[in-house]
Order: sequence, then structure tokens, then C-alpha cells
Amino acid sequence: MRWALVGASTIAAEHVLGALRGAGQDVAVVQSNTASRAAEFARTHGIAAFGTDLDAILSEAEIGAVYISSTNEKHHAQALAAIAAGKHVLCEKPLAMSVAEANQMVAAAKAKGVTFATNHHLRCSGSHRAVRDLVASGRIGRVLSLRLFHAVHLPGHLQGWRIDNPAAGGGVIPDITVHDADVARFLTGEDPVSVVAEMTSSGMGQGVEDSVMSVWTLPSGAMVMAHESFTHPFAGSGLEVHGTEGSIFASGVMTQQPVGEVTLVTASGRESVPYPTHNLYGQAVADFLAAVEGHGRPAADGRDGIASLAVALAVRKAAATGTRQMVDYGG
Ligand code: NDP
Repeated sequence: MRWALVGASTIAAEHVLGALRGAGQDVAVVQSNTASRAAEFARTHGIAAFGTDLDAILSEAEIGAVYISSTNEKHHAQALAAIAAGKHVLCEKPLAMSVAEANQMVAAAKAKGVTFATNHHLRCSGSHRAVRDLVASGRIGRVLSLRLFHAVHLPGHLQGWRIDNPAAGGGVIPDITVHDADVARFLTGEDPVSVVAEMTSSGMGQGVEDSVMSVWTLPSGAMVMAHESFTHPFAGSGLEVHGTEGSIFASGVMTQQPVGEVTLVTASGRESVPYPTHNLYGQAVADFLAAVEGHGRPAADGRDGIASLAVALAVRKAAATGTRQMVDYGG
């Protein structure tokens, strides 16, 4: 299929362009709001065409799908334009700036009959899928709690709009809490009901939060503890799922690489859990392409993107107001 990249971004350059090409896709054109940036991106990455006019690019019938990786405030309008033009859409998280916008995008895709996916890469990893399979097969009994450790150090080349531009969707909550919300939903199959939270700026955020801790309650009564930050160089990442019959410890797995260790602890002892180490973004693209062909669904679909955004925005509101918030999924 022929693709347009919407946004001349780091994530496209570092991960998704390679994943698309690895799946035999033809990345034909890149769109950026700055002509020189579009030209430079196209030249650097060997993309034949570039431009600033999204509507002109979308009017090309040969383009079958778009990958949207602009800053967060642009996703909504760009996705609606692509859907109206009949293109399949792989959209970066967070889907939009509000749950209402995200619901509008997903409804538009459904009405148009195009495939719409959210690029939540963590659920594409072999490690997360292995943890989910252990939970689903009952190996740890009834799930009591999850702990999500996702306090990292934002690399210098990403310290732009994320740390100082609320209008572009900056802040650690839209950046990382959305991923953790998706992880919790993916592992448990449950949509968080309510949240409490505290957030702060601990040295990097200028006008946006760079650190947050929150606690979520799931419909089953299980609890989730989540910690996201941009300012922790040595904290490491990981997740734990604790159940009545066992616990799963997955260390180093909240990352873009297929790395980390998964350990299951039960009354029988400790065992190391093997998992496939495929490329996370390659898997996201493979699942997306299969869905376009009518086989299965994207790794994370539009509804998943709405839900992760809804949880993240509830966390921010809880932290801003100092009150427990019910998660509003809209729609
Ligand atoms: P970048 O900052 O690299 O790019 C985003 C946009 O900002 C670009 O499309 C470009 O806009 C503009 N821009 C970038 N660099 C410059 C520059 N030097 N000068 C002027 N403008 C610039 O963003 P990321 O790749 O980090 O993130 C893009 C999206 O992808 C976000 O929504 C983010 O949340 C998501 N993301 C998802 C990840 C995942 O694993 N799922 C990982 C990382 C990001 P334009 O092209 O319009 O000129």
C-alpha cells in the first residue's frame, strides 16, 4: 500500500518509517507544516515527494493510508481530513486533546469504513503479550493490583514541545500516562473507573507537569499504581501484576525496544518467562495491515485510543483539582 507520513517527526524517522518499509509498504510522501523541514526529511529518508498542503496530498487516489505523528493538537483535524478522503489511519497517541475529539475521529472512521488505529507500541511487545497471556490463562489467579513504573529521563532531542508547550499537548501525562493506561487496559481487559493523582514539575517541565503519580480503580476492584516522569535518569522501568495465586514481575519492559525480563512467582517457585523479541513497531504495522485486509483488528484500535486518553485526562484533572475523578470515556 502507498502511505503518506503526516508530520516530519522523530518517531517516524526513528521507528515507524523503517517498520512500514520493513513490511513492504511504499512511503510515497511526507507532509510537514514547514516546507524546508519536509524537504529535509524527504531527502534524508529517501522519500520521493514532500509538501505542506495536506489536502493536496490526501487528494491523491494512490495514497491508501496515512501515519499521523505531528504534535498532539494537530492529530484531530489531520485525522478527520484523512478519513474524509477515504484513507486508512494509523494515528499517534494521544489521539487528540480531548475525549470528545477522539470520539469524533473514531466515529468518522467507522462511518467511512476505513481502518483506524492508535500507535500504542507497548501492547505490541512480546513481553507485554506474554504477561497478558499469563493473566488471561489464570496463572496468577484473580488480579489484585498492578504497579506501573514508567519514570524515565526524556532525551535531549525530545525536550521540545513536550516540556514547555501545553497548546501542543506537552506534559508527561499526555505523553506517557496514556501509554500506561493502555498497558493496564491491555493486561486486564478492564477500563479504569476512577482515579486519584498528584503531579509536579521536578526540573524539566516549564508550564507543564513532568512527573505524576496516580492510583486507578478497575471495575473488578483491582487497583493500579502508576508513576510517570521525564526527570528520572536511573529509575529503570517495569510493571508488576499481583494476583491471588501469583505475581508477575516484568523489569525494563516500558520501552521502545524488545528487551527486559519477565518472571512469574507462584507457590511453585520462580520461573523466567520467555517471550518473542520482535520489533514493536513492526508488529503494530503488521497488525494494522492485517486489519486493513479484513483479518482481525489493529493492535490498538480507535476505542483503545479513546480510553487511554480518557484515563490520562482524568489523571490530570484529579491532580489539578486534588479530587477523585470518574473516568469519562465520552461517546
Ligand atoms: P517531534 O517533535 O519529533 O515532531 C513532531 C512535529 O513537530 C513534527 O511533525 C514537526 O511538525 C514539528 N517539529 C519537529 N521538530 C521540529 C523542529 N526542529 N523545528 C520545527 N518543528 C519541528 O515529535 P515526536 O516524534 O517526538 O512525537 C510526534 C508524535 O508521536 C506525538 O504525538 C507523540 O506523542 C507521538 N509519539 C509516540 C511514540 C510511540 O511510541 N507511540 C513515541 C514518540 C512519540 P511539522 O512536520 O508539521 O513541521
